Amino acid sequence: MKKAVSFLLVFTLMLSLAAPAFATDSHNADLCENTPVIIVRGMDFGGLYVDCGTESEQPAINTDAGMIVSGVLKIIASGIINFSLDSAFDEVANLVCDIFGFFAMDENGDSLHNVSTPKYPESADNYENLRNGEGFEYGMVRTCIEAFGDGHTYYVNYDWRLDPFVVADDINAAVEAAVSETGHQKVSIVCCSMGGQMTLAYLSKYGYGRVERCLFMSSTFCGAQVASDLLTGKVDITADNLYNFVRNLSNNDVLSFLIDALNKVGIFKGLTKITDFILENYKEDLYENAIIPVFGRMPALWGLVQAEDYEAAIDFVFGGRTQENAAFLERTDRLQKMMKDKTDLINEMINNGVKIAVVAHYDAPVAPVYKNAHFNGDGTLETYQMSGYATVAPYGETLGDSYVPENPEYLSPDRVVDLSTALFPEYTYIIKGAPHVSGSYGTDYSEFLVWLLTYDGEFYAGANEKYPQFMVSGSEQTLSGF
Ligand SMILES: [Zn+2]
Repeated sequence: MKKAVSFLLVFTLMLSLAAPAFATDSHNADLCENTPVIIVRGMDFGGLYVDCGTESEQPAINTDAGMIVSGVLKIIASGIINFSLDSAFDEVANLVCDIFGFFAMDENGDSLHNVSTPKYPESADNYENLRNGEGFEYGMVRTCIEAFGDGHTYYVNYDWRLDPFVVADDINAAVEAAVSETGHQKVSIVCCSMGGQMTLAYLSKYGYGRVERCLFMSSTFCGAQVASDLLTGKVDITADNLYNFVRNLSNNDVLSFLIDALNKVGIFKGLTKITDFILENYKEDLYENAIIPVFGRMPALWGLVQAEDYEAAIDFVFGGRTQENAAFLERTDRLQKMMKDKTDLINEMINNGVKIAVVAHYDAPVAPVYKNAHFNGDGTLETYQMSGYATVAPYGETLGDSYVPENPEYLSPDRVVDLSTALFPEYTYIIKGAPHVSGSYGTDYSEFLVWLLTYDGEFYAGANEKYPQFMVSGSEQTLSGF
């Protein structure tokens, strides 16, 4: 009995001694070398929900099979009954609106419906579903959790349609949470794809005082050609772009042979005769009744429009109605100014000791539905903008044997990308064959990411001979030099 009591006493004493370690944070930021990481994800097209977080939550994209089937039947029926393609295409526009209608924004560029997305305002240790990611941003989150701890990893998810200056508030909240929860004074930001533009808005609005380093991964920090083309009406499908895209989808020799054979007999040219006919006759109506109502007032897309296309985009989408749309255009003006000022801002950051890296990929075609879809890309966005305006040969081509770069060191060994014209060539990595937003868990690429987040010496692209400025990615995101 006595023994049991003394055992209990000792046990209680042990618990009370151990308690402070559980109750208060034993983490000492001064001794900790792990800078908290904020991962700002890219556009999650299917990640928006109506009445998000409530019992009536449903995906914002309506993929109800019954609705789609009845929509398709209406297209066919109205084509046959009215014996007219015009009424069939009216139904096409209706179907697009039925599927994507919840994406629509109000006249000021805020969400028209109660649409939003799950958020992760606290560190990753609060979210079970962030621990087991494999690819893309989720893979990066898992890598950072393992490398720096789940209390040092934050994941910013957001409604990708919104004004980046609104999303900037969420990024700021994550940064401030990281600072107050870990005791570290600064954070690292990893921004992916659309997250590039969102992070620029954060840096413009809140400054870079909290930022130790910022990695622009496959990012939109210089906008995106696809947005420029979409909002200036340059929807186009060419036979070559269509063939390149379809050919790239195939990783099977027999299928590739078949696609090449079909191309030789003119299938893609034939298909584009049909799409040309459709675009010629119905593009205007589709824009007016579907594309502009659904996508025309998303501030984030307007921030991606290239400066030289901005006036044309306003003219195309709003025509003479700039007066009625003044409030919205004030927002887009502000975004265009942010994009214009970013070079000075980032240079200032570099001069004040913030480590910057730009990572861009090439050697994959982009979606073959716009005029400039011959641009080289990573399957989603164009290398030209992701690299900060490197000179890039069209997809499938090189810059040629007679091409003379301003600085020969900045020409990729395969003569496809010349970083001489890029905004930050000394801090830019170019990777052939890596898909959009790489960094899958457990790959060479994820090790590269950790290195970018931890390297403490004087930083420039190629500072580590294991990761030269120009790299080639294998199919499993392996990395090597040329
Ligand atoms: Zn720490």
